[in-house]
Amino acid sequence: MKIETKAIHLGHEIDQETGAIAPPIHLSTTFERDTDGSYPRGHVYSRLSNPNRDALEKCLCGLEGGEGAAAFSSGLAAILNVFQALLPGDHVVVSQDLYHGTTRILQDILVPWGLQVSYVDVNDFSQVRAVMKANTKIIYLETPSNPLLKITDISALSAIAHEAGALCVCDNTWPTPILQRPLELGADIVIHSTTKYFGGHSDVLGGAVISKIKDAFFDKIRMLQQIGGAVPAPFDCWLVLRGIQTLSCRMKNHSENAFGIAKFLQKHPGIQKVHYPGLVDHPGHDIVLRQMSQFGGMLSFQIRGNKEEALAFIGRLKIIKRATSLGGVESLIEHRASIEGPQSKTPDNLLRFSVGLENIEDLIADLNDALG
Ligand SMILES: *Cc1c(COP(=O)(O)O)cnc(C)c1O
Repeated sequence: MKIETKAIHLGHEIDQETGAIAPPIHLSTTFERDTDGSYPRGHVYSRLSNPNRDALEKCLCGLEGGEGAAAFSSGLAAILNVFQALLPGDHVVVSQDLYHGTTRILQDILVPWGLQVSYVDVNDFSQVRAVMKANTKIIYLETPSNPLLKITDISALSAIAHEAGALCVCDNTWPTPILQRPLELGADIVIHSTTKYFGGHSDVLGGAVISKIKDAFFDKIRMLQQIGGAVPAPFDCWLVLRGIQTLSCRMKNHSENAFGIAKFLQKHPGIQKVHYPGLVDHPGHDIVLRQMSQFGGMLSFQIRGNKEEALAFIGRLKIIKRATSLGGVESLIEHRASIEGPQSKTPDNLLRFSVGLENIEDLIADLNDALG
């Protein structure tokens, strides 16, 4: 099956009891034991497993091409559980250009817990090689990165990780498996915030870890999911699985709209710089042509002006909403430096734009009017 077909059918088997096409939602927290004490239908207690989470995990495995998937209550819970599957004293190499919540998890939770972290420019391979140590267990990256849309060569980074006996972990939230499949490019583990494009409607929070192989490391992530308990509710699993059914057509449409808007902004005199990997002058353009099938729905741009002018510009928008997050059907724009807080390295005149599925002419007219 091709990915568009998998997205519609995996985890959506016909309900044997009723013939329902849309899967039922199983709210039961506990499941009946047989007279001999066994659990013949596989489920015991819904923190450990339940039918809706199983269906979602099966679908995620199929889309990314992995053997194991674990769904979590948020993207950050997924990320935390991957690092906690290591041991205190282990070392990880992480991209310095990451979702700010991932950096906070490392700084505020994992470093005090005993993890050693080196932040590097993952596109400078000699810098990556130079920080690798005997106890390095993971190289962690995000591509396109947040919020500067930097592109990293997943195959090259995976090879560097494997030479050193480490795993390559890739946050694939922005492109989704419709546009990019890191496991096929050599990565070992993929992470998602399913809150974003998978859910797709800004109405459910979730996360996932997908592993290329079902090995001892994945078993540990599964144990942490079941015992740590940061699990998604059955209805949340159902919503994400429903969102995935339209993922492929949404991603194509998001990408087309974003590409059109990037080209419009690039020509506008009020704009200093557009960060979008589809533009030929983007430094990662050649890599992206090899590793993504389209350029995605996210872009960022810097206006000619300061923070106040950036905020005033988005204050004049009528259709495009001012809010954090991304990946929903509606266009969202955000001043990143102010949400990331005082340590943020993001330029003050930068706006991050999650391009929605509205008609592109309406979006361009909204931007044009607000730019003045
Ligand atoms: C949103 C996001 C996360 C965090 O996910 P939550 O569901 O908000 O916990 C992690 N990585 C990326 C790239 C994100 O965009």
